[in-house]
Amino acid sequence: METALWWVRNDARLHDNAALAAAADADRLLPVYVVDPRGYGEQPYDGRNSFDFEKTGAFRTRFLQETVDDLRGSLDDAGSALLVREGRPDDVLPEVADAVDADAVHFQALPAPEERDAAGAVVSALSDAGVTTRSHWTHTLHHVADLPDRISGIDDTFTPFRQSVERDSRVRDPVPEPDLPETPDLARLDGVDDSGSDLGSFPTLNELGLPEPAHDDRGVLAFEGGEAAGLDRLDHYLWEGDHLREYKQTRNGMLGPDYSSKLSPWLNAGCLSPRRVAAEVEEYEAERVSNDSTYWLLFELRWRDFMAFQTAKHGGQFFSLGGIRERDDIDWQRPDHDPAAREQFERWARGETGIPFVDATMRELNATGYMSNRGRQNAASFLANSLRVDWRRGAAYFETRLIDYAPGSNYGNWAYIAGVGNDSRNSYFDVVGQAKKYDSDGEYVTHWLPELEPLPAAQVHEPWELNRATQAEYGVVLGEDYPEPMVDLDATYEKFH
Ligand SMILES: Cc1cc2nc3c(=O)[nH]c(=O)nc-3n(C[C@H](O)[C@H](O)[C@H](O)COP(=O)(O)OP(=O)(O)OC[C@H]3O[C@@H](n4cnc5c(N)ncnc54)[C@H](O)[C@@H]3O)c2cc1C
Repeated sequence: METALWWVRNDARLHDNAALAAAADADRLLPVYVVDPRGYGEQPYDGRNSFDFEKTGAFRTRFLQETVDDLRGSLDDAGSALLVREGRPDDVLPEVADAVDADAVHFQALPAPEERDAAGAVVSALSDAGVTTRSHWTHTLHHVADLPDRISGIDDTFTPFRQSVERDSRVRDPVPEPDLPETPDLARLDGVDDSGSDLGSFPTLNELGLPEPAHDDRGVLAFEGGEAAGLDRLDHYLWEGDHLREYKQTRNGMLGPDYSSKLSPWLNAGCLSPRRVAAEVEEYEAERVSNDSTYWLLFELRWRDFMAFQTAKHGGQFFSLGGIRERDDIDWQRPDHDPAAREQFERWARGETGIPFVDATMRELNATGYMSNRGRQNAASFLANSLRVDWRRGAAYFETRLIDYAPGSNYGNWAYIAGVGNDSRNSYFDVVGQAKKYDSDGEYVTHWLPELEPLPAAQVHEPWELNRATQAEYGVVLGEDYPEPMVDLDATYEKFH
């Protein structure tokens, strides 16, 4: 009789899950979700010049709670169960393995350093206890074993990476959902009563020291965690709403649920498999339309892959101030050492920079845990390129707040924009130019900054262009109704010319 544990990580789903499928080959199976205290509360950024920041904020925590609840429901329905435990995985899993006499533990391999370290500690603790471990690569569209190059040989620029996987790799078919074997005897597990009914639950927000996030109906979508909700969103975006056919034209939008897929929170918590998305895109292409929009969704998923593989290639360097280019020629303002930089960072974080487009994006993030790609690019460029504040502080702020946070996608995009990552150009986003292009009627900005509504659309992105008397006429006086701009934007771009 073989007993296996499935250590659930960012793969909380029954569909296309090689770790679950392998664990389900055993005669008995116990899925275990571990709430690691290192993922919550104030934690050090780590590496050189570390600083503390809140690792997971309320939006993502709630999404994860819902994800775990949903997984428990589907495991129960499939005749299995889910054990939820708090503690370090390298403490919890050996204890559980011992209590149920597990022979093997199957788990998802993840590429970023903290995730790899956590898995490494589990493997070593379990091997001391004589338990076999097996990791499974399930996080990306392309399986690591199918890449044309070894991880160390992957190009640091996206285009050659994309071309090589499009040409020389293939996307595997999703793994069928397995039948689940019976649950082992849990009587020796600490804290589980005789009926085996109390299998633990995710801590409440209050227990984690987090506030209950208020629902803001200005948000693009009420993101709900879990495999069921993730598959529903995919179904809505592709089939019901038929939005995929115009994705390439709409993806730079900023308002409403359907300008982009909004799949990122489910992909990153693992409620949704990228290969499942690809399989449905293929079906959509066969049944509805195959065009540059259907291709583009996969193109973007390859960006996600690229960033994930880059974290595996570069490890800690990817998250360092000088980035993978090891740049030391930028004079970063450091909020941890310098009160003036701290004040600048905080104004940015609160959405009070006096630059409407930036403030709208940050208020959206703070109110909902989500921000469009266009918004992220501009908010990040303003902090890193215009203010020259340590880009890692901005990335860490996003890590706390984003409902869809993923290490590679977040830090990789930040580093790219800050000029220390996977792009060799020194560039910046002209925030007002971008605002006029992507929010030409000022609808997005006034959605999040209603105090600017009285202004004519032509002035909404540059209220400082109005003299004080005109500001007063509209009832939007800078410094009273809305902040004065904290910098002269054009002057901040001079260093790039
Ligand atoms: C500063 C900054 C920080 C970011 N942080 C994250 C993050 O923590 N997590 C995250 O998933 N994405 C991040 N992104 C990428 C991108 O903004 C989001 O993936 C996207 O906005 C999510 O919305 P969507 O699912 O509707 O995207 P869609 O436009 O529908 O794209 C489909 C999918 O492709 C992937 N994708 C799209 N663009 C990118 C990209 N530039 N890099 C990597 N993957 C991409 C995502 O998985 C996304 O769900 C960041 C971008 C920037 C500029």
